[in-house]
Amino acid sequence: MDLLEYQGKQLFARHGLKVSQGLAVTTVEDALIAADEVGYPVVVKAQVLIGGRGKAGGVKLAANESEAREHAGNILGMDIKGHTVRTVWIEHASDIASEYYASVLLDRSAKQPLVMFSVEGGVDIEEVAERTPEKLIRHHVDALAGLSHDEGVQIARDGGADDDVVDGVADALVALYEVWLEEDATLAEINPLIVTPEREVKALDSKVSLDGNALYRHPENQSLSDKENEDPLERRAKEEGLQFVKLDGDIGILGNGAGLVMSTLDVVSHAGGAPANFLDAGGGSNAETIKQAVDLILANEAVKAVLVNIFAGITRCDEVALGLIAAFGEIKPSVPFVVRLDGTNDVEGRRLLGEAALPNVHSAKTMNEAAEMVVALAAGQSVGAVA
Ligand code: GDP
Ligand code: MN
Repeated sequence: MDLLEYQGKQLFARHGLKVSQGLAVTTVEDALIAADEVGYPVVVKAQVLIGGRGKAGGVKLAANESEAREHAGNILGMDIKGHTVRTVWIEHASDIASEYYASVLLDRSAKQPLVMFSVEGGVDIEEVAERTPEKLIRHHVDALAGLSHDEGVQIARDGGADDDVVDGVADALVALYEVWLEEDATLAEINPLIVTPEREVKALDSKVSLDGNALYRHPENQSLSDKENEDPLERRAKEEGLQFVKLDGDIGILGNGAGLVMSTLDVVSHAGGAPANFLDAGGGSNAETIKQAVDLILANEAVKAVLVNIFAGITRCDEVALGLIAAFGEIKPSVPFVVRLDGTNDVEGRRLLGEAALPNVHSAKTMNEAAEMVVALAAGQSVGAVA
């Protein structure tokens, strides 16, 4: 779960990282009230879940009310790489002497937390990593011991931070590590971490991703999910407890078990099709779950055909068949379905489906056959063997 800049900064502040005070607003009028409150000059910042806002014109300094009005007016409603700006964050502008970079994430291959630091901040860090890798300090942390202030000092020195801010940078790194660890973040990044002319070290931006599966441990963070920018289908899936990810294609996918669904996506792609979603109805899915899942898949208007791929262990194919029959009774889908039922009670499941004689539902024996059929159907071709 990605956080907006200002939400990330609020987490930072909770752990003692220095940030500027500000307010999140959604109208120009409120932006001006906020600007008065934090004091000019202010910076008007688009709050969208995408980087590079500055380059896209989504971050502007305003010295006075007329500039703030102009910038807030321009930025609210702006499209930044497909993300519409609905909220701007107004904070008191900082003076900048240097822009550094800092981040904490899990290095899976090393099986250790990784702290990264560079004095080449404010720019695309991937470029720094590529062109001048020696300028990006990578420091692995002993997960049991945590990150000590001394280690922070060493990282700051190795990275070439100015002598007089080495302590301040170390404090910031320790606080950022604490954010990452205690908030169950998968990424905590500051770019830029600035040094002010007064030699204060401060987070000017934030990029924080929280582990959605650990959210139950942080009731105070649950309200942070960006409801407005979240895909409406994914939001609905979450509410219904379905594992659903929207994709760009036109073939709806329903399976049970994440591994099976992943391979179904692969097989469909291999057959020349483009999946419209990932949907894992889960082991032991019953008729009601299947009905909800079908409903959700068909709520995506791009879907031209649906593949139901069930390999039943705990799940029972007869339950899945009953769910499909119930779903067809209520929803009356206008797109063709291909159903492959294999495993527990598959004979019974296929018998139920056959008896129901659902319109436009095709039965397939293997996953490959099912994938080829559904790709053909999505392309508007006819296939044999109606269930
Ligand atoms: P990003 O473009 O999405 O990464 O947004 P940032 O929050 O990092 O802002 C982009 C750039 O705008 C920063 O690297 C700064 O150079 C500049 N900027 C942002 N806030 C301020 C501020 O308070 N004062 C000044 N002088 N520049 C700022
Ligand atoms: Mn930035």
